[in-house]
Amino acid sequence: MHETVFASSLLNIILDEVKKHEAQSGHTCRVERIYLQLGLLTCLEEHTLRGCFEILAEDGPAAEAKLVVERLPLAGRCAGCGQEVRASGRDLACPLCRGREVDWRGGRESQVTSIEVTEI
Ligand SMILES: [Zn+2]
Repeated sequence: MHETVFASSLLNIILDEVKKHEAQSGHTCRVERIYLQLGLLTCLEEHTLRGCFEILAEDGPAAEAKLVVERLPLAGRCAGCGQEVRASGRDLACPLCRGREVDWRGGRESQVTSIEVTEI
């Protein structure tokens, strides 16, 4: 359950941010949205991730938070046709020549880009 581990570290990051914000503003905060970037090759299934996060965040300041996931495109060089190419789906063949000899770079990113909180 890769998603559980990720969701729990994600929640820790978010709760830290909430604490900081609360300390600065003097108000209790609720998390509205969490913006995430995930590489195409991270073995994280969005639906499962949302489910895990919901369970873990229950009764806390992030209980109602929406996860907004942006999938980062993958860039690589195809050995077949020699072009720089990008993949944006699960299909990792070269989009130009359909070759499978593509040297993909990155794809395993997972980071929080921003969070939106409301003071309550
Ligand atoms: Zn190619």
